[in-house]
Amino acid sequence: MTRSYRIAVIPGDGIGKEVVPEGVRALRAAADAFGFGLDLVEYGFASAEYWTEHGRMLPEDWFDELSGHDALFLGAVGWPETVPDHVSLWGSLLQFRRRFDQYANVRPVRLMPGVTSPLAGRGPGDIDFYVVRENTEGEYSSIGGRIFEGTDREAVVQETVMTRTGVDRILRYAFELARTRDRRRLTSATKSNGISQTMPYWDERVARMAAEYPDVAVDQYHIDILTAHFVLNPDRFDVVVASNLFGDILSDLGPACAGTIGIAPSANINPERRHPSLFEPVHGSAPDIAGRGIANPIGQIWSASMMLDHLGEREAAAAVLRAIEDVLAGERAELTPDLGGKGGTASLGRTIAEAIPAAA
Ligand code: ATP
Ligand code: MG
Repeated sequence: MTRSYRIAVIPGDGIGKEVVPEGVRALRAAADAFGFGLDLVEYGFASAEYWTEHGRMLPEDWFDELSGHDALFLGAVGWPETVPDHVSLWGSLLQFRRRFDQYANVRPVRLMPGVTSPLAGRGPGDIDFYVVRENTEGEYSSIGGRIFEGTDREAVVQETVMTRTGVDRILRYAFELARTRDRRRLTSATKSNGISQTMPYWDERVARMAAEYPDVAVDQYHIDILTAHFVLNPDRFDVVVASNLFGDILSDLGPACAGTIGIAPSANINPERRHPSLFEPVHGSAPDIAGRGIANPIGQIWSASMMLDHLGEREAAAAVLRAIEDVLAGERAELTPDLGGKGGTASLGRTIAEAIPAAA
């Protein structure tokens, strides 16, 4: 029996519907080249159309329906003209992350050939690291509230929650990732000189776990100076791990240092594989360019590569990534306008899919 994967394909809104077919095209090309099967099931929920028709973002039975899949392949959710962003996001993507316990948010930060970094003098090879963000607890707890409202004693409090399980599992994920890399370096971001309870606790758990990974070099930075080093010395980093809030900031700053938002991928991972993990580009639905066939499909195709890697198809994942690099290093005219080319979403997607067998 050939191995086969069942994937839920959720295009969502705006350019999500344009770039997802190109991600699927790359997946099919990789399946053909590497001899595995794909069972792709497309869903129209998590979109503004679904909201308009049903008054909610997801069907009642979404959890059971999606639980039967090996992974979720998502485009972009959000169409503010029809449904406010906080409603569409909380009603779909954030439900997936929470209910499927996708506690590791992973973004590669890598300067690709042919892409110009906003950081002067940086070329391919200079920027190549991962940001690993804790995705379920930390600063984004809803514990807190206001007191003495409307009086001159008015005050507001919001608590940060770090559990030992929550901190240790994200650190372990990051240490294990560092172990797969050549440089084997882990950088932890905190702010222990200012936030005196939770951040020193995180540092303590890092130090404890570092003893289990003598082969991984560990650095700790305060978040403020770390953001400066992202810009000034991005070559210092290999795997950067951070709490929910700090990771949120770093996982936008990182891809920005590596060029256009159109090519950056991301993964929301449940490492224990009790639930499906979710793969999506970093960008949103881009209403300003939607429907014109010019969106860059590379963020979606790179996300497909991350998904293949997670499914255990390492060689196929590497071939998809090489195909992206080869095309980026080739003829400029083939690329989409955000990369200075004259190509469209489908033509760039086809060019990359056709390059996959050669990269195999
Ligand atoms: P989010 O939905 O994550 O809050 P947003 O809606 O603020 O993000 P995006 O939809 O990512 O932002 O778009 C930000 C800008 O980047 C827009 O000008 C958009 O056109 C551009 N952009 C985003 N994705 C792509 C892409 N794949 N190709 C080309 N341009 C893109
Ligand atoms: Mg948006």
